[in-house]
Amino acid sequence: MVFRIHTQNAIQRLMKLLSIPGGSGHELAVSEHLREALKGAGIPDSAFTIDNANKLSPAGGETGNLIVRLKGTKKGPRRMLMAHMDTVPIAVGCQPVIDGEWIRPQSSTTALGGDNRGGCAVVLTAVLEAIEQGLSYPPLTLLFTVQEEIGLRGAKSVNVSKLGNPELCFNWDGRVPATLILGAVGASNLTIRIDGIASHAGVHPELGVNALCAASLAVTDLQQNGWHGLVVKGKRRGTSNIGVVRGGDATNVVMPEVVLHAECRSHDSAFREKIVSEFRKAFVRGVKGIKSADGKSAKLTFEEEVRYEAFRIDAEAECVKAAKTIAESLGLPCETRISDGGLDANWLFQHGLPTVTLGCGQHQIHTVSERLNIAEYLSACQMGLGLATAAL
Ligand SMILES: [Zn+2]
Repeated sequence: MVFRIHTQNAIQRLMKLLSIPGGSGHELAVSEHLREALKGAGIPDSAFTIDNANKLSPAGGETGNLIVRLKGTKKGPRRMLMAHMDTVPIAVGCQPVIDGEWIRPQSSTTALGGDNRGGCAVVLTAVLEAIEQGLSYPPLTLLFTVQEEIGLRGAKSVNVSKLGNPELCFNWDGRVPATLILGAVGASNLTIRIDGIASHAGVHPELGVNALCAASLAVTDLQQNGWHGLVVKGKRRGTSNIGVVRGGDATNVVMPEVVLHAECRSHDSAFREKIVSEFRKAFVRGVKGIKSADGKSAKLTFEEEVRYEAFRIDAEAECVKAAKTIAESLGLPCETRISDGGLDANWLFQHGLPTVTLGCGQHQIHTVSERLNIAEYLSACQMGLGLATAAL
């Protein structure tokens, strides 16, 4: 099987997508561009849906996920091709330029946004090439998600009933075209608030309860018992980090409140919850550990938000076998990996849709050194065309 694509068209399509500003929550222009490009190939208005994922997101946002359903020109299980539309803020305003084998940002102050306009361009190219070349394809769903970079909000709240029950799902968001990501870590965010007791720091410090001191007992406890940073207990592994601390506003007041923001991750969901529970216990002890002269103690408020659950797709799953078959037919060396960052695929898995994630040439993402490798991107487009059209 050979999946040929028009390389200049594929590169131009990518350059255009890279030049559209669209941070998380500001994906409307990207979404409209994709819709126009697909309509230009004859896809009818009735094929397009925008769900209300933005309304379900705490971040709000201009638009929801863009879902496109194509009937297909041959029978077969429905396949879904997806990518997220948003970029990290540092990529907003990028002017892409071609530089030999690479696409890079013109200015040294922006990232490129190849994460993830590269993925959007692969999905778009796959479908436009299938249509232009008159290749037959089974029913297809295209899913362009919003707000991936701020905690997979679009994928979390996608309207699954609009996806048409796809049986094989492919997500483009990564580097090497034939490196298949079959699983990813899960993560929880913690918001920990300690309300201490204010008092005059010079006149009656003993009547106050310093919120930071209570927090410090807890943090020391976690660090000394191996629950902070890299957490390894027997064969179980995870990570945790207290990344933000805010509290107090005057030296002459016993610090009345402190708020800490932390995260916990593990590929093992039960172990991640174990780390969270050790955090909770440590803070309960920390708060009990300090009392004012009249016997009062601070109050703890401990909140966990599961950002996404860990997942692992079976190496024998249909979508994995399909990606391997197409990679082999293109002569691309195929390997499988597990990711230590979250992916839209985490939530798709939770929604009952095992999704393999593939690369599209992204390098040094989220930095001003971000570049996109043109050869890898074009191979990803061929993979996309193969996965959209081939008999599997
Ligand atoms: Zn991404």
